[in-house]
Amino acid sequence: MKLDDLKQVFNEKLINWFPVVADDDKTYVNNVLTYTNILRLRLIAWMLIIFMTVLICIHLIYIDKVQLESVIKIAPLIMALRIIFIGVAAIFLVVTGKLSFPGSITRNHQLYESAFIMFNLIGFAILSGLTQSLGPGITSAYLIAVLVSATFLYLDWKKSILIYTTAWTVLTVMIWTFQPDWIVAFSGFLNGTFITILAISISRFIYANRVQDFMSKRLIEKQKENLASTNKILEKMSYLDGLTNITNRRFFDEFLARELKRAARESFSISLVMLDIDKFKQYNDTFGHQAGDNVLVQVAEVLSKSIKRPGDIAARYGGEEFAIVLTNTDLEGANCVAESVRKSIENLNIENPHSPTNKLTVSCGLACMQPNNDQESPTIIIASADKALYEAKKAGGNKCIWAKSQNGRRILVNVK
Ligand code: GH3
Ligand code: MG
Ligand code: MG
Repeated sequence: MKLDDLKQVFNEKLINWFPVVADDDKTYVNNVLTYTNILRLRLIAWMLIIFMTVLICIHLIYIDKVQLESVIKIAPLIMALRIIFIGVAAIFLVVTGKLSFPGSITRNHQLYESAFIMFNLIGFAILSGLTQSLGPGITSAYLIAVLVSATFLYLDWKKSILIYTTAWTVLTVMIWTFQPDWIVAFSGFLNGTFITILAISISRFIYANRVQDFMSKRLIEKQKENLASTNKILEKMSYLDGLTNITNRRFFDEFLARELKRAARESFSISLVMLDIDKFKQYNDTFGHQAGDNVLVQVAEVLSKSIKRPGDIAARYGGEEFAIVLTNTDLEGANCVAESVRKSIENLNIENPHSPTNKLTVSCGLACMQPNNDQESPTIIIASADKALYEAKKAGGNKCIWAKSQNGRRILVNVK
């Protein structure tokens, strides 16, 4: 059976013991776990300092009253070990002092993390060994230390096997060296072995669960990101004309209604230019639909370039008709823009044999409005511009005409 088959059996039968971390996420997962571990180890370090200080105090107070030869013999060694525990915990607290996520996590932190766990477990193994002569059950402090690390910390496969088996080796050597009764030694050895296997299993279980949890969250995040960008594209698509890539009729309608309302509130005028390509049906019939499409794209480009202010838009109104909305612009201003568009399109020099100038041209109808808050404002301004456009066509095309009053003067199209 290959290793991969074994992994699959584990994954199917138990929980997912070997969750797959995407390459991009590996460093991030490692950093998260190291950061969490170090925060927890700092708590353990503080507890060790307090615990060992209390033991040292008790030791100093009561050492004179101890009669037992065996205790007196190992007392200085145990005292030294406790001081070393405090020292190492203090050093760990100092080197991991300025910890912030994720910026400050380096490879060194992974080293401090493993070294501190390893040191503590070996320390407890030595303590258990040295105190073997004091009676059976003396390995319990070591067993607790191992279980606490296994359940409290996130260690991957390699780290946990290295740490727990090293500590177990030290414990085994210590027990067989310092425990005179072989039956007690054997039971201590059995306990140590059992707890080591258990610790490695628990460690794997907790690690795999944590990584799995992380990967599920990451997957959801990625799906959300994808969804958001798809939505953005869809929203953009719903407002853009597929052929010319300028805004479409839907956007034009919404924009015009919104701007007219704003103009009513803030008392400014809105100008609308409706454009229609002259003799376009015949152009299509002569040069084909594809060539016609090409012209529509070029006209749209001219329109886009001719609107310079952020409040203005150019839209494809439908077929070969376009519209320009100019916010806060009077008829003179709108006429300037329309004339420049008309000339630019004529200057494209696109051949149209059906036009009197032999060139492809457009006609523009203009209307300007200082609206009140009437729902009908969009309909009225469009109808006025359309009427002017019709006049331009009647006059032979290639012209810009503005909505006029009876006596031919320029007017502001007022609602009511
Ligand atoms: P006028 O000078 O009076 O505007 O005449 P016209 O031929 O331009 O006007 P009409 O409205 O009769 O014709 C519009 C033509 O526009 C009909 C159709 O062939 C063409 N057209 C509309 N939409 C498209 C399009 O998406 N692509 C192409 N190639 N042609 C289109
Ligand atoms: Mg038309
Ligand atoms: Mg036309």
